[in-house]
Amino acid sequence: MNEIQKKIISLKKERGALILSHYYQALPVQDISDAVGDSFALAKLAQKAEQDIIILCGVRFMAESAKILNPGKTVYLPFEAAGCPMADMICPDDVLSLRRKYPKAAVVCYVNSSAAVKAVSDICCTSSSAEAIVRSLPNRQIIFVPDRNLGAYVAKKVPEKEIILFEGYCPIHNGVSPEDAVAAKKASPEACLLVHPECRPDVLAHADYIGSTAGILDYARNTDAKEMIIGTEIGVYDILKRELPEKKFLMVKDEFVCPDMKKTELEDVLACLEGKRSPIELPENEMLGAKASLERMVSIG
Ligand code: SF4
Repeated sequence: MNEIQKKIISLKKERGALILSHYYQALPVQDISDAVGDSFALAKLAQKAEQDIIILCGVRFMAESAKILNPGKTVYLPFEAAGCPMADMICPDDVLSLRRKYPKAAVVCYVNSSAAVKAVSDICCTSSSAEAIVRSLPNRQIIFVPDRNLGAYVAKKVPEKEIILFEGYCPIHNGVSPEDAVAAKKASPEACLLVHPECRPDVLAHADYIGSTAGILDYARNTDAKEMIIGTEIGVYDILKRELPEKKFLMVKDEFVCPDMKKTELEDVLACLEGKRSPIELPENEMLGAKASLERMVSIG
């Protein structure tokens, strides 16, 4: 542990703060965190947090969700401009116009979205809970926003529902091509390919396992396979490489990095603890609407 990490740990205890990190954060940031998880795990931990301060090392929608689920707490996003390009592809008016077009449909909103979009949706989901959440709804028609790739994956799993897709996507996961998948498998024929459902359907077609970030980590930890190609952000590869040195991990393509997730530096976390950052604030109407959508997700997931 370096000096700044030691300073963060000691100040964290002194100030009674909880530090939560997403799996895509850099390892030095993960190492000073109380818990590391995917967006669903982080949302649940934030909801139950007893500490007065929550520092969420990730991107903006994650810190917003923490604030919404536990509004009495002071929630910080250490690098305030860390956003999610997929979340920025949709606005509340897009959802409202789909609602007008499909009045009988329920709106399922991937958590990778702004509080304002969650507020006009019926229920949120994560990549691990999307299928169960769509199944749980009585409506036959489902408007799925904003990720068209995750929506298409769910549509295949739940054919009895009509899934109406929005044309959003994660530029990082969507950037993997089927040629990347084929080339990676050809280069390592013994390896199995583990892919996140934010990737394109023609990439998922080559996968040996499809799952959320947490699902990929669990699969890699528990399988007998000795060689695996990782089809999600490089943070997952970094965790597995450090944790399981006896196994061989490769990336499906070079430069599989979410730049926003890598913006958080230890100095930013320290700045939150020193009171040099502004906490997350959201308009009351967004807080209430988004809370209902998030709480429905947590109760089902
Ligand atoms: S990996 Fe994709 S979905 Fe996740 S934060 Fe980055 S841009 Fe958004």
